[in-house]
Amino acid sequence: MNDRYSRQILFPGIGPDGQASLQTKHALILGAGALGSAAAETLVRAGVGELTIIDRDYVEWSNLPRQQLYGEKEAEAKMPKAVAAKERLQAIRSDAVIHSLVMDATAEKLEDIAPGLDILIDGSDNFDIRFILNDLSQKYRIPWVFGACAGSYGMSFTIIPGETPCLQCILPAIPAFSVTCETDGVIAPAVQMTSAYQTAEALKILSGRTEAVQTKLTLFDVWKNQHHAIQVGKTKKDTCPSCGTSPAYAHLAGADDTKMAVLCGRDTVQIRPETSRSYDFTYLETKLSRHGRVQKNPYLLSCALPDYRLVVFRDGRVLVHGTKKVEQAKAIYEKYFLS
Ligand SMILES: [Zn+2]
Repeated sequence: MNDRYSRQILFPGIGPDGQASLQTKHALILGAGALGSAAAETLVRAGVGELTIIDRDYVEWSNLPRQQLYGEKEAEAKMPKAVAAKERLQAIRSDAVIHSLVMDATAEKLEDIAPGLDILIDGSDNFDIRFILNDLSQKYRIPWVFGACAGSYGMSFTIIPGETPCLQCILPAIPAFSVTCETDGVIAPAVQMTSAYQTAEALKILSGRTEAVQTKLTLFDVWKNQHHAIQVGKTKKDTCPSCGTSPAYAHLAGADDTKMAVLCGRDTVQIRPETSRSYDFTYLETKLSRHGRVQKNPYLLSCALPDYRLVVFRDGRVLVHGTKKVEQAKAIYEKYFLS
């Protein structure tokens, strides 16, 4: 046994028991973008036993200023983030058990993996997924740590089922502009500050020190040097559809019919076939290369058309970059994939 974790063990908040506890725990990181990358790296370095990382996207050049697990090689190769994250994390710590899933985080799939999880870390970029996480947390009694950032501001809140209010309960306290998909850009310090709050909370929970958990909604702006912590404990409602006395878990029960989705803050529409289908990439490459430059790796194939860029994943999902219009994306999809 080397002294790898000696500084954490010396830290009274964790200690030897806390460290031993961390090493038996399993964390879900939902989204491997900026917040997800930062959380995954911190938890892996801290010695958390097992991580499941879910992400549906691939590395792009515009990610590199803040998505700390990726570099130029991954952007050039258009590597799926979940795959690239696992590779980097295993280089940091070879004994970490890491499951990387390149897919949409649907309620159905999350319910399959929920029973083995000890914590849910929000690395997503939209409230549709956060409400699914919120219901999942309540139904399976798993703590989760909400985090969001944009521009130079960020926020974090820890939800412990049965003790704290949930995301539904505190929603009125969350600034309205954060709930929309429009982004005003973002700088890395806002990400790192948000992640620092999220991962400190995760370390408290996973090392068994729940008495240290922050009960307030934390909000800050690293550019304007503002920092607030809002008391939201009293907002917990018995009538809440997620954490109340008769929960409906509507976000888990809701039919997963989002076959077409405009991706948050991006000029992109995702199309998901009704049943997962796998394409013959060799055939697709031949077909699409008549229309534009094709690039592929073991996980996806992309084609640069004159006005759009198509990306096809192994699970059958197609991203149409260059439009926010669902009808337009659908027409492009039908032209190149169904004809
Ligand atoms: Zn609630």
